Amino acid sequence: MAFSSDCIFCKIAAGTIPARTEYADELCLAFHDVNPQAPTHLLVIPRQHLVSLAHCAPQDAALLGHLLQVAAELSKKLELSNGFRAVLNSGADGGQTVDHLHVHLLAGRTMHWPPG
Ligand code: 5GP
Ligand code: ZN
Repeated sequence: MAFSSDCIFCKIAAGTIPARTEYADELCLAFHDVNPQAPTHLLVIPRQHLVSLAHCAPQDAALLGHLLQVAAELSKKLELSNGFRAVLNSGADGGQTVDHLHVHLLAGRTMHWPPG
């Protein structure tokens, strides 16, 4: 499985950097963001090192679907019945700061549109 030794999320997936994990399976894990932007702010990441959505290929479609399905399951588990926002930032203009694919799951306050 692809691993980048200088990637903070690969280290979280490997367990060498601690995180408040909410869910884990063989393909992905979900943990609380260290700098939450909403009362609930989780990151769902693949275990394998994929840089961003822009770096995904057709063979990654099932994994991408799995990440979104896990986000949906977490919204039920955490009873986010008032709604939530799932976000993938990609690249510099997208606001991506960690170059390991992740889905933000934000909830607990009203979100605004357009995003900043
Ligand atoms: P991006 O800006 O790339 O879309 O999102 C990266 C997210 O990762 C940010 O919300 C940031 O707070 C979070 N983050 C960065 N480093 C760590 C860390 O070491 N642990 C956790 N739990 N979150 C992190
Ligand atoms: Zn990585």
